[in-house]
Amino acid sequence: MDELAFEDFLLEEKRKELEKLAREEAERERQAEEQRRREAEEAAKEADRLQARAETERRRELLPQLMENAVRSLDKVWYVEPSEFKGKDLIRLYYNKSSGPLTNAEEIWIHGGYNKWKDGLSIVKKLNKPVVEGDDWWYTDVVVPEQAFVLDWVFADGPPQNAIVYDNNSNQDFHAIVTIPDEKYWVELEQLIYQKLQEERKLREEAIHAKAENTAKMKAETKERTLKGFLLSQKHIVYTEPLDVQAGSTVTVFYNPSNTNLNGKPEVWFRCSFNRWSHRNGPLPPQRMLPAENGTHVKATVKVPLDAYMMDFVFSESKDGGVFDNKFGLDYHIPVFGGIVKESPLHIIHIAVEMAPIAKVGGLGDVVTGLSRAVQDLSHNVDIILPKYDCLNLSNVKDFNFHKSYFWGGTEIKVWHGKVEGLSVYFLEPQNGFFWVGCVYGRNNDAERFGFFCHAALEFLLQSGFHPDIIHCHDWSSAPVAWLFKENYAHYGLSKAQVVFTIHNLEFGAHFIAKAMKYSDKATTVSPTYSREIAGHPAVAPNLHKFHGIINGIDPDIWDPYNDNFIPVPYTSENVVEGKRAAKQALQERLGLKQADLPLVGIITRLTHQKGIHLIKHAIWRTLECGGQVVLLGSAPDHRIQNDFQNLANQLHSSHSDHARLCLSYDEPLSHLIYAGADFILVPSIFEPCGLTQLTAMRYGSIPVVRKTGGLYDTVFDVDHDKDRAQTQGLEPNGFSFDGADAGGVDYALNRAISAWYDGRDLFNSLCKRVMEQDWSWNRPALDYLELYHAARKAASNS
Ligand code: ADP
Repeated sequence: MDELAFEDFLLEEKRKELEKLAREEAERERQAEEQRRREAEEAAKEADRLQARAETERRRELLPQLMENAVRSLDKVWYVEPSEFKGKDLIRLYYNKSSGPLTNAEEIWIHGGYNKWKDGLSIVKKLNKPVVEGDDWWYTDVVVPEQAFVLDWVFADGPPQNAIVYDNNSNQDFHAIVTIPDEKYWVELEQLIYQKLQEERKLREEAIHAKAENTAKMKAETKERTLKGFLLSQKHIVYTEPLDVQAGSTVTVFYNPSNTNLNGKPEVWFRCSFNRWSHRNGPLPPQRMLPAENGTHVKATVKVPLDAYMMDFVFSESKDGGVFDNKFGLDYHIPVFGGIVKESPLHIIHIAVEMAPIAKVGGLGDVVTGLSRAVQDLSHNVDIILPKYDCLNLSNVKDFNFHKSYFWGGTEIKVWHGKVEGLSVYFLEPQNGFFWVGCVYGRNNDAERFGFFCHAALEFLLQSGFHPDIIHCHDWSSAPVAWLFKENYAHYGLSKAQVVFTIHNLEFGAHFIAKAMKYSDKATTVSPTYSREIAGHPAVAPNLHKFHGIINGIDPDIWDPYNDNFIPVPYTSENVVEGKRAAKQALQERLGLKQADLPLVGIITRLTHQKGIHLIKHAIWRTLECGGQVVLLGSAPDHRIQNDFQNLANQLHSSHSDHARLCLSYDEPLSHLIYAGADFILVPSIFEPCGLTQLTAMRYGSIPVVRKTGGLYDTVFDVDHDKDRAQTQGLEPNGFSFDGADAGGVDYALNRAISAWYDGRDLFNSLCKRVMEQDWSWNRPALDYLELYHAARKAASNS
């Protein structure tokens, strides 16, 4: 056995050992899960038992009230044969017709119920005439309700609708004792209630379990598909055979230099290593790539070590280097499956001033939560540092506790810790009151307050001995983290950390953003197109070499038409037509629109100039001209715009009350119903860094109609024009889009969209199904961010 073979032998032994450990761990987890299930079942049984007892007790206490005024007969008025009876018995009730107001009635009816009319009128019968001529005792046979303790009734001269004269015992009604329950009755009743509760609980739990399993299955399938897509997304440049790279196997890497900066080079050299360039054997010797059979690609073959979890490579024009293709500084990485070593998790800390759903103002808050959850799901460690606003929505924070307190900046800072959506969050509460102002933004010292927060957050990390790999800050509000860190902290205990900075909207605080761009190790914005649109901006331009566009995702749990309490019928892409039909009906009913099968355009937006107000107005009129319905849900921070839309709403609600509804408020539940009930969601923004509305629309099977800008351009592919562009993303076209910022542009997209609806519903429905099956969650963006985090670390270790 040579040295390499011996190493492999040892690794193979280690693999077997690890597999055994994994099996044992899985068995322990199974047993713990079984134990948890048993405990939960016991607790549920106990709860049902208590409920059954309470219910029995309640009925027992009510009994004297029920039996009040109940007798076994009323002399000369009524009696029962047999005189003692119980539930389910057949009894004969006699009534003396001449005893009261019905003396002269032609017919006698009983209108009865039981237990103080518990179920209302449940016994209605006509009485028979007496057997003996001249006798006054009329009678009827009645089956006693099973649960009755007391029978209640009145007599009348006809059935309920026709009766005119009643004998209701001078407004007291008649009450007969059925049975006075004994102790055994109560014991049996309690048992019966308990069994019923158990059965109901079982059915409920089975339904919830089945649904949760289905949801988890769909989620896992989507994630798997997206990872495959991620691996294939480079196919025009690089791919492997087989596509799934297994540790210990041999793979061939195919590379097409004609699509890269190595185009036309006579030679291509393949430089590869493993485990993010940290493998114990170091990089493999450079390998000259050979022509592949397909004529376009060149290829190289590699043996993947048993202890690999990641394959890393770049390409160069010669053995010694020269010109490189390193994927714009990110390098090429392909995950390796089945290895005996797992990638050690990164520790990422977000310092941010917004976080959904506890302190959300806009998209920034959604990104912090969504990105963190997705990265944590990929087995990395994430913490978030947030100001402790007095206006925090604490009901969404679990295990909220005081953590510690420290002094900095001339004040005491209390630190609280809690879990939000499964994420660990530290809340900083400076006792100078900077965040006791009832809002997130909007004070004239916002910059001072947030600057203080950024500095205090870094101080907290240092004093608490954190050693994060990445500190991620966002927009102007936590931009100071970048330079405060580099100037004051990078050389001390936090030296391992790299700073990543994300621009969510360049409209605000460009000066701060420019400075953070300069100091951060990597910078991103929320879509590739927006990154190009702002590339020339003086705040961005000097640092393009470290600047990347990564699209945002939506949270697939918050936005899930299969598990959504705000819509009438749960649906997936399988029953999208049925689900959306029910939602449209519910929406029309709720807003008082005509209940008809018409194309419905939804608009859900902040009403600001960024969102294309004049285009929104035009689209409303255009949709109405096409015979469609429009629902707008929007709120305007500027009261002039709000008034303007209020006037439009008044006008439309009188001229087109069947077809248009403008809801000028912020209403999240209603937004869910609009996403589900609309056929189209219109987003005609003038600029849009990413945009979440079009993504949510697709999750609910609504077709986006958008202006081609920023993230809207990167996520919506026009049915008529973008087939090829979609294909490069591994997608099919999914909507309608337009270029200009005028009425003609909107018309061009909207006319085609509405025509598609009228022209062929089968085709339109298949488009709805298709957009639902596209994955706009954080699955893919999280992989891109991880690439970036790793690239930041590699750049640091090289420098
Ligand atoms: P921005 O962050 O610029 O407002 P995005 O498209 O990124 O735009 O995010 C907007 C989010 O706010 C979406 O989730 C949308 O559903 C929601 N939203 C906007 N206006 C309203 C409203 N009036 N009521 C409820 N939700 C709204």
